[in-house]
Amino acid sequence: SSTENLFTVETSKSIFEEACTYIPGGVTAHIKYMTPHPIVMKEAKGSKLVDVDGNVYIDYLLCSGSLLTGHGHPAITEAVTNQLHDMGTTIFGTPHLLEQQMAKRVIELYNGIEMARFTNSGLEATLLAIRIAKGFTGREKLAKFEGHYHGGYDQSLISVNPTMEEAGDTKRPTPVPESRGISNYYLEKTVVLPFNDLEATIQLLTENKDEIAAVIMEPVQGGYIPATQEFMEGLREITEKYGIVLIFDEVKTGFRVSMGGAQGYYNIAPDITTLGKVLGGGFPVGLVGGRKEIMEITNPISSRDILSASVETNKEKNGNKDSVLFHSGTYYGHPTILSAGKATLDLLEKDGILDKTIERTMWLRQELEALYARYGVTMKTIGLGTIFNIVFTDKEILNYRDMQESDFSMRDKIDRRLLELGVYIKPLTRYSMSTEHTQEDLEKTVALHEQVLKELTNK
Ligand code: PMP
Repeated sequence: SSTENLFTVETSKSIFEEACTYIPGGVTAHIKYMTPHPIVMKEAKGSKLVDVDGNVYIDYLLCSGSLLTGHGHPAITEAVTNQLHDMGTTIFGTPHLLEQQMAKRVIELYNGIEMARFTNSGLEATLLAIRIAKGFTGREKLAKFEGHYHGGYDQSLISVNPTMEEAGDTKRPTPVPESRGISNYYLEKTVVLPFNDLEATIQLLTENKDEIAAVIMEPVQGGYIPATQEFMEGLREITEKYGIVLIFDEVKTGFRVSMGGAQGYYNIAPDITTLGKVLGGGFPVGLVGGRKEIMEITNPISSRDILSASVETNKEKNGNKDSVLFHSGTYYGHPTILSAGKATLDLLEKDGILDKTIERTMWLRQELEALYARYGVTMKTIGLGTIFNIVFTDKEILNYRDMQESDFSMRDKIDRRLLELGVYIKPLTRYSMSTEHTQEDLEKTVALHEQVLKELTNK
């Protein structure tokens, strides 16, 4: 077709090749890599990306979902510019008013958050959440779910994306390191749980109940496989019974499933919550918040006095029990970033815009499902709120292993052709929506899917 002839990414290719001289693999984060080479961008606005060869894409990656209000929203640009101008500096390195205003705002929105602290990224938020849980309970093990991602550090890089050979028993998954360089210590101290399998989860938690500090989870795995209501309720009940800290990692779901995150949707309060992505309005941010009693152990003055009874009984095991739980970082609570976050929350709370974006996401999902059905291709969309995924299977998808049985090669073929046609989705990743995706964008997306289907099915 003529479109095919017009599509070229030659400039991207040559920039990438030179980047490989200075940067291993040519990318500053694995997530930006794709074969045969990544596409290098030069501009973006609203729902669109423009690459260095001048190709325009409707963006469904949206910086891994961070950009819920699209690229370069004028209200965010203005807020950041004003903040820099009014403060006269980029950062104070001291307390400032916006910190408490933003903390208060998040506390009002999230069931499980009574006090909060900021970090620079989602990674740091979950890392800190786990340390707080260990400090609070005096226990050393972490339970996490197979296929759930919480950031790129040793403790969480276990069983995120294992092969089926490595993964072991479905009901008792083997802890698998995701990277070289991860100490055996973390494998020994991690219990891997099967998502959405309450019986097996209860069994594993019961076996390790005196050693597990926390269960950490993505309430919606990968942002697109929702926990069942029954699973969430069962998990809340069993963790409470055993005194295990329940951590909802809402870095993806925060402000995307509802303003109050997935915990608002399920109406369940975790003990600790982590946020990131949308909260920074496109700037790097993280937040860890939770029950007052737990969060107070990060208080540099009083943490000595309020350590839980369980820590007291573990005195011998934990030599440092009396010390403060360390939480600090040069840039934490950065005013420029919080001003972008504040502008983002203002935008999302205006005129029910989040609900409208969720409705438009549903519209796109339904149109795509109907389209594929018309072409006789077995496909379904799964997701919650403003994120979904396209899966080629007729089976129910409840966890990581179900996903592995879907047809990835079909998905890959379609994604690559869509890239050429102007839909930006990194092959095999989920679709994230923004408030700036117009009806026209969505209709065009459906039409381009139809073009790909025509080519693939010769219909
Ligand atoms: N937790 C979840 C659920 C995430 O999706 C991510 C990022 N994709 C992280 C933690 C890590 O966040 P960051 O990339 O900001 O470090």
